[in-house]
Order: sequence, then C-alpha cells, then structure tokens
Amino acid sequence: MSDSCDACGSSVEDALARTIRLSVDRSTVDEQRLCPGCFAEWIDRYEQQMRTEPDVTIDEENDIIVD
Ligand SMILES: [Zn+2]
Repeated sequence: MSDSCDACGSSVEDALARTIRLSVDRSTVDEQRLCPGCFAEWIDRYEQQMRTEPDVTIDEENDIIVD
C-alpha cells in the first residue's frame, strides 16, 4: 500500500516515506508524511532555521522540537 506525500502530493511507498513530527512544548502540533525529496528539503529548511532560532532542534528521530 502506498500513500501520498503531504508536501508535494506524489505517491510514496511506505518503505521510502519519512514522517516528521513538529513538537512544541512536548506536544505534537504537526505531523507530515513525506517523500525522500521533500524530507530532505524540510531538514534543510529547519537546519537553516536552527542557526537563527536556537530554540528549534531536530532530535535523532527527526522530530522537530520548538521549545
Ligand atoms: Zn514530496
């Protein structure tokens, strides 16, 4: 079974899909299922944001945490 990417809408196999969770104050406020390309863009965007916004971190499970 395959589902579509939340960002670009193209279908993506479960084996390739990545899920990103955006958490604020330890509660999940957004969860997106992404294809590998959109996942890489997300990480790039948040890594840039982390340089200017020290409160944003990405943990080892690719959860994006905003304290
Ligand atoms: Zn995508």
